[in-house]
Amino acid sequence: MSRVALVTGGSRGIGAAISVALKEAGYKVAANYAGNDEAAAKFTAETGIPTYKWSVADYDACAEGIARVEADLGPVDVLVNNAGITRDAPFHKMSRDQWQAVMDTNLSGLFNMTHPLWPGMRERKFGRVVNISSINGQKGQFGQANYSAAKAGDIGFTKALAQEGARAGITVNAICPGYIATEMVMAVPEKVRESIISTIPVGRLGDPADIARCVVFLASDDAGFITGSTITANGGQYLT
Ligand code: NDP
Repeated sequence: MSRVALVTGGSRGIGAAISVALKEAGYKVAANYAGNDEAAAKFTAETGIPTYKWSVADYDACAEGIARVEADLGPVDVLVNNAGITRDAPFHKMSRDQWQAVMDTNLSGLFNMTHPLWPGMRERKFGRVVNISSINGQKGQFGQANYSAAKAGDIGFTKALAQEGARAGITVNAICPGYIATEMVMAVPEKVRESIISTIPVGRLGDPADIARCVVFLASDDAGFITGSTITANGGQYLT
């Protein structure tokens, strides 16, 4: 019987590539999203992957959403915490709302999604949790005190939970993408993009599929000995 994977923010960008790659690898996939109904409907029409709307920033909504997914597809074996937002500003101009929104989605979202699923994974003695952090959580980024703090927090969360899950057959890992050619990055002027690419040793932006392949590997039985690790996928831009 095929395993069930749930991808947060799984209808667009990197998350969409992850959802599709997991489906192609034989998983039953559910893609969560926050509010962009049009993109979600288009994604489902194109891929056949069902989409489920709730905010990962809301604990009760996560518990309810997970229950819906499990009623439709069965117990979730693989959780990919991919949903993320930016609310950039230099720190002296950063509002409390900008700080809190990023914390709620990019850091608390991991608690809100993993906590309701954890008892079931422990009981079934199998689980895979993959957290999408960021290069900017590793190195910090001007104008992203909120985002860098949350993404660094994701790595700490990963390492702590890996220790708790190990004996129960649950692995917990993080992936830190560098610049990936999503809509957001492709929207910046070509000149700026070229200057970003000049700082990436492999000489190109990442492709969402580059990250999706890492997820498929970490979700697999072959990766059962890997837990608490951080995979850096950034074309050599920042070496940890
Ligand atoms: P996109 O903005 O393209 O997509 C974000 C997805 O997350 C959408 O599906 C969105 O839903 C969903 N989402 C946002 N907030 C919530 C929420 N509160 N609850 C549920 N879903 C939510 O993002 P990317 O593909 O660029 O990024 C994916 C992840 O990768 C993020 O965690 C990001 O921080 C990280 N990352 C991205 C990099 C890049 O270069 N793009 C680099 C490093 C890390 P909806 O469609 O409804 O808005």
